Amino acid sequence: GGEGPRAEAPPAERAAWLREQLQRYDYHYYVLDAPLVPDAEYDRLFRELQALEHAHPELQTPDSPTQRVGGGLLDELPKVRHRVPMLSIQTETDTTPAGAFAFDARIRKRLGLGPDDPPVEYAAELKFDGLAISLRYEEGVLVRAVTRGNGEEGEDVTANVRTIRQIPLRLQGVVPPVLEARGEIYMRRDDFERLNQRRREAGEATFINPRNTAAGAVRQLDPKVTAARPLSFFAYGIGEVQGWRGEPSTHGALLDALAHFGLPVSRERAVVRGGEGLAEFHARIAAKRDQLPFDIDGVVYKVNSLALQRELGFRNREPVWAVAHKYPAQEQMTLLRDIEVQV
Ligand code: NAD
Repeated sequence: GGEGPRAEAPPAERAAWLREQLQRYDYHYYVLDAPLVPDAEYDRLFRELQALEHAHPELQTPDSPTQRVGGGLLDELPKVRHRVPMLSIQTETDTTPAGAFAFDARIRKRLGLGPDDPPVEYAAELKFDGLAISLRYEEGVLVRAVTRGNGEEGEDVTANVRTIRQIPLRLQGVVPPVLEARGEIYMRRDDFERLNQRRREAGEATFINPRNTAAGAVRQLDPKVTAARPLSFFAYGIGEVQGWRGEPSTHGALLDALAHFGLPVSRERAVVRGGEGLAEFHARIAAKRDQLPFDIDGVVYKVNSLALQRELGFRNREPVWAVAHKYPAQEQMTLLRDIEVQV
């Protein structure tokens, strides 16, 4: 705890301390589903380490939290290697609407577009705050559910995920022989409140927030525990796919197809043009954020054309063609200190 070596300390000392802190926070957040600090605090330290490593590349270590996705796997759960890695998303540092224009400007530059070229089309959607999951369907039947884990390998939680009613055990219509749908398992706010109410009445410790409660509920050894927790799901992408006839060419059409197959896809999404379209979406969602039945920590922008996504590719374990544009954190420090943590 504490602030560690002061910001003016030798960079190597400060960087080592930041890595140690972040590794400890990662373990509690990703492995135990019980964060020690609010996300805003974590993000502050993370950005400081990133800046230090940027200024002093010799300080960067392969095991630095800045070089990885996620933070570890539960020993007790079987591991599965992802055929297509599950990566993170870069976060736009500017949380004002200007962040939308900054992302658009970067994309245009990378695509070599000039001021006279038409606006780039984007798919804008919500950034759900839960646990990333990959659902593998073979011949339309759910055969495996795997957590993101460290991005390369995740935890097999198939038996637990089968208990979630919003996740179809069988897809509908004409589906590709192999389809991995990726999305987020989350808990609605009202479900979370009711769960905590029941626990209070039973004299049990209450949960801190819907995100960690949902993640903890999925990563259980006993599917009965998962079944007793009210979980929901939204699909937002795909992993491995084989033999998809008439495969969509845009992200928007891809989400439409997933919805046709019977997977829950949020209606709060739009295909927009240019930085202006993104900024409008950002503002529209900010205005209704409190009325949404679930927590979000921002919005996500993705280049809509899948061909352009392939052209843009990946960098530092993150897609270049997507960005998370966050809203200021809702969670307060006091909340975490005052509530007992249930692991
Ligand atoms: P991230 O959660 O910021 O972004 C990547 C994830 O976004 C994906 O894995 C996916 O699950 C999710 N997502 C939600 N909606 C999506 C959509 N529409 N399209 C695509 N993906 C979508 O990145 P991360 O690496 O998982 O975690 C970093 C975050 O976790 C930071 O915000 C950090 O604050 C928090 N964290 C907090 C602590 C802590 O101690 N409080 C510790 C570690 C991490």
